[in-house]
Amino acid sequence: SVRFLSSSFKASDITVERSKTLQPKPDPSTLVFGKQFSDHMLTISWSKEDGWATPQIKPFQNLSLHPASSALHYSIELFEGMKAFRGVDGHVRLFRPMLNMERMYRSTERCCLPLFDKVQLLECIRKLVELDQEWVPYSTDASLYIRPTFIGTEPSLGVSRAGHALLYVIVGPVGPYFATGAFNPVSLLADPSYVRAWRGGVGEFKIGGNYGPTIAVQSEAQKQGCQQVLWLYGDQEEITEVGTMNLFIYWTTEAGERELLTPPLDGIILPGVTRQSLLDLARKWNEFRVTERTVTMKELLGALNSGRVLEVFGSGTACVVCPVGSLLYKGQTYKIPTMSNGPDLAKRFHKELTDIQYGRQQSDWTTLV
Ligand code: PMP
Repeated sequence: SVRFLSSSFKASDITVERSKTLQPKPDPSTLVFGKQFSDHMLTISWSKEDGWATPQIKPFQNLSLHPASSALHYSIELFEGMKAFRGVDGHVRLFRPMLNMERMYRSTERCCLPLFDKVQLLECIRKLVELDQEWVPYSTDASLYIRPTFIGTEPSLGVSRAGHALLYVIVGPVGPYFATGAFNPVSLLADPSYVRAWRGGVGEFKIGGNYGPTIAVQSEAQKQGCQQVLWLYGDQEEITEVGTMNLFIYWTTEAGERELLTPPLDGIILPGVTRQSLLDLARKWNEFRVTERTVTMKELLGALNSGRVLEVFGSGTACVVCPVGSLLYKGQTYKIPTMSNGPDLAKRFHKELTDIQYGRQQSDWTTLV
């Protein structure tokens, strides 16, 4: 059978219009996530008639969109979240960026947006970060957050494949997730009446429609004195994710073995780059069982009651790992002894990944900008 390869934009065609007025860089200690942006952005537009236009790097600026644009009405929108780090040697590095490109490609297919060459997009992003490299904080607990975004800009209201689209990338400096520099455990609301994603749905894609509806649940968690949501799923109350992080449990199994457990990529889990990295590291260390399987609320509560739980933590680009300290479930608060167990494993993961990201340890997981 004939397979049509979609054509793509090329990084070597990129045009650069430099900003005439450069913004002052904020003090790294005052950074608020997602509020500051650099001087430039990358845009690449596409239409059914003309295909991909040449990529443009230009001054950071507003978009002009037709009010009927399909992203605004039907959430034909997807994004990525990745970071560039200023190493101790002064060089700027990306962390496993091809995993983000691959995830973005899968989201693009699911949204029926036009496909592209992942290597070319990464090279365009690299060029943007290179131009705005002074925006990568000179700090080993801050970084430059990179937000690739892809929207349908079809100017008509039919629920159909977008014939116009815009891929763009904005970047901005972000501070440490843990303000004090020390690990702070989070408290979670586990309420089975709220569902983030379901089998057959789109939870495994990084698309805007998965995130907007979570804000009300996050507010409910805060109203009940919790910091984040533990997302449960189905009659068995499967434990899936924490807020916008993947979830890990480190415990002793009923058979008495040490095990690191995380839910499998069965459609309702966002395939985190950090999740993959923790699994890869743990399997390389080969010091305890590493398991991807469905785990239920009943199992976790049982293990907590019998004192078998060592650490529970979330994983994500924002924090690397984030310890979980307690759980509010059906009106009862369950303490999780993550902090009193070090948390040895969470700290080890955090050190290992940040050593790689900030160039303290050589690794083929980083790409120089
Ligand atoms: N789960 C969800 C729902 C997320 O939005 C994210 C952030 N992308 C993650 C997990 C963690 O993924 P990553 O390690 O790639 O940041």
